Amino acid sequence: MSYVQRVLDDLKKRNPGEVEFHQAATEILLTLEPVINAHPEYEKAALLERFTEPERTVLFRVPWVDDNGAVHVNKGYRVQFNSAIGPYKGGLRFHPSVNLSVIKFLGLEQILKNSLTGLPIGGGKGGSDFDPKGKSDREIMAFCQSFMTELYRHIGADTDVPAGDIGVGAREVGYLFGQYKRIRDEHVGVLTGRGLSYGGSLVRKEATGYGLVYITEEAMRLRGDSFKDKITVVSGSGNVAIYACEKAQQLGAKVVAMYDSNGYVYDENGIKLDVIKQIKEVERGRIKEYATRVAGAKYVEGCKGIWNIPCDVALPCATQNEIDGESAAALVKNGVKYVAEGANMPSTLEAIEVFQNAELVYLPAKAANAGGVATSALEMAQSSGRLYWSSEEVDAKLKTIMVNIYRNIDNAAKKYGYAGNYVMGANIAGFEKVAEAMMAHGIV
Ligand code: NDP
Repeated sequence: MSYVQRVLDDLKKRNPGEVEFHQAATEILLTLEPVINAHPEYEKAALLERFTEPERTVLFRVPWVDDNGAVHVNKGYRVQFNSAIGPYKGGLRFHPSVNLSVIKFLGLEQILKNSLTGLPIGGGKGGSDFDPKGKSDREIMAFCQSFMTELYRHIGADTDVPAGDIGVGAREVGYLFGQYKRIRDEHVGVLTGRGLSYGGSLVRKEATGYGLVYITEEAMRLRGDSFKDKITVVSGSGNVAIYACEKAQQLGAKVVAMYDSNGYVYDENGIKLDVIKQIKEVERGRIKEYATRVAGAKYVEGCKGIWNIPCDVALPCATQNEIDGESAAALVKNGVKYVAEGANMPSTLEAIEVFQNAELVYLPAKAANAGGVATSALEMAQSSGRLYWSSEEVDAKLKTIMVNIYRNIDNAAKKYGYAGNYVMGANIAGFEKVAEAMMAHGIV
């Protein structure tokens, strides 16, 4: 049995029931065989065993009081996975589906993603099974303050720098930062995605979605192609989805469908993004409202049907495993040419196989959605330098980073004889740097 297979089997035994973590580890480890074969010293140093075991896992209780005086208790998590190349960095997710397995899959992915940005950031992830939907602002604040009252002792501007993710946007980051500052009495870059009035970076809000479109645009450019007139489907209608839609539209794409967790809207005339922003960002409402406000648009209950809509470009930007094998087959049958992942692990292992066996460009999440964390690292640089860059400067840096990521994953795939396989390319390019740093640090 190969070293990689042995580590994977062991990981499944030692982390029973953690299905999302198993899925991410399988996807990553099996692609690393060529690198491991080229470096027999890695096995002697138990490098993969250490790479797949978080350096530290913090689990805590988050008690809070709702508007009626009732006391609730949620679970809080922070997995500090790997700090070989920089302080832990990765978002916080507040969603009822959050558990240790979900946080560990996200943390493992984050290590390689952060390495791919070329910036000095390690991998971490955290969150809670708290559901922000339907809660008042005061309840959100009470929860965030309680969450930070424990988390503050584990993080720091040079130690671990969380950010947003599903259910954690500008409002939540504001409350979390306020509580950190109050307890520690220091105004530092301990969280990214901060508001512009208290140390945030221009373009951070847009960065994941814009970056996704920039890397896809680069893949298109090298094939003599562009977003112009491309029928595009974007899943989700949160932070990543909205700004992916915005940039794709600016480049001439026709985005025809988006969803939230209840169902999707189809607008053959092209999604009116200002209406989506009003519903999702301002009113915090449901996407079905769109069909009542825009003539000709239709709403369909349930999410899965969105992948049956014929399109040239698919940008999954909602959550893990939103595209299964069947949905991937439907996309391929309808002639999709580019699939680029804004969400983390949106495609199941079966779906990935379908995409890789088809004639299309498939850009996996850890490369395609790295623009968010890359811009977070730019926010950290601005915070420690006590300075601000203009939107043009940040946007230009983001674009350069995404183009470089594309080059790196393309080159890594070619170097090991897997040209065009960007899953291999992303995992290998991300891993090489982390592995080198871990070897340099000795057995720690
Ligand atoms: P948001 O909370 O802003 O939006 C999430 C969107 O996905 C909402 O439209 C939500 O619908 C939908 N959604 C959530 N769960 C499901 C589900 N089970 N089925 C269908 N739809 C669902 O989160 P983000 O936009 O920040 O994050 C989206 C994805 O992008 C995540 O995978 C995240 O890890 C990834 N990502 C985010 C980054 C960032 O900078 N924010 C960076 C890199 C990756 P509803 O409103 O109904 O809940």
